[in-house]
Amino acid sequence: MLQDTYGRKFSYLRLSITDVCNFSCDYCLPDGYQRCHNEKFLSLEEIKTLANSFSRLGIEKIRITGGEPSLRKDLPQIIHTLKQTPGIKQIAITTNGYKLTEQLPVWIDNGLDSLNVSIDSFEPRSFKMITGHDKLQEILTGIDNALASGFDKIKINTVLMKQHSANQLQQYFDYIKQRPVSLRFIELMQTGDNQAFYQEQHVSGQHIKMQLFSQGWSEVIQERTAGPAQVFSHPDYQGTIGLIMPYAKDFCSTCNRLRVSSLGKLHLCLFSEQGISLKKYLANDDQQGLEQFVTNQLSDKHATHYLTEGLTGATKHLSMLGG
Ligand code: SAM
Repeated sequence: MLQDTYGRKFSYLRLSITDVCNFSCDYCLPDGYQRCHNEKFLSLEEIKTLANSFSRLGIEKIRITGGEPSLRKDLPQIIHTLKQTPGIKQIAITTNGYKLTEQLPVWIDNGLDSLNVSIDSFEPRSFKMITGHDKLQEILTGIDNALASGFDKIKINTVLMKQHSANQLQQYFDYIKQRPVSLRFIELMQTGDNQAFYQEQHVSGQHIKMQLFSQGWSEVIQERTAGPAQVFSHPDYQGTIGLIMPYAKDFCSTCNRLRVSSLGKLHLCLFSEQGISLKKYLANDDQQGLEQFVTNQLSDKHATHYLTEGLTGATKHLSMLGG
């Protein structure tokens, strides 16, 4: 199994399949997507090679992300290919939900196991202000359809922002009262492009944690390998709440994930100084070479990101890599 010099083991790959996004979220792509390269995104064949190699290295879960992954027409085939890979036990996707009502059944038929939908506000006007799209109701209908069909491996990602989520907590709590959904608050992270917005809008997850405790929520003890979210439950609620606090001390000590960009670059951290190209192995279906190369790279993984020092590496915005 892949292991770094700090003893962290990696069983989880986040695979970006495009950097294009159709939303223009304030904190990510406020001016919309601007193409800044002429490179091709990973092909289905390259994705197959990648999945075979990473699964032999001990990766068991792959999350498809972007940009907006549902913008790729061959997404169902990508899900199918990943799901057919021996050793890969779980296929997840992170999406803005734009195509949920139309496409989710197809993704599930092709082997999707779990779904993360990004919803930064349950208030339609705020949602439109943040994303540039008046789509909240349609996305919520897509989630309710999924739940009604029995698909309940659903998480909602909400970026904490002073102006929106931090003031609308009751709406989030109400949403999960009768729905078995895991709602996860993610602290806004600074990236190369969003410094002023970050300074203005960042709220610590501690603020939410205090409110949860005061309203009868209790922390669920997690296994060390479960990843970075702190999870809370409440006897009156079907859903749970997760807190992802990348600025908290020791956040990176439970890191269990690697990332590959849609251009075929390995990123040892979301905020690495650079991605390391895997293209030469992928283009030639050189699985053995790829496995050796990735294993060797692991020794360069740092103990932590340097976000608390204000260093954001090469990451201008998370659409480049997928969050
Ligand atoms: N388009 C998909 C979506 O909307 O979920 C996948 C890509 S998006 C970059 C992945 C996740 O990163 C989303 O939940 C988004 O809210 C989150 N994200 C983007 N920029 C962020 C930032 N600066 N801080 C925290 N989360 C961020």
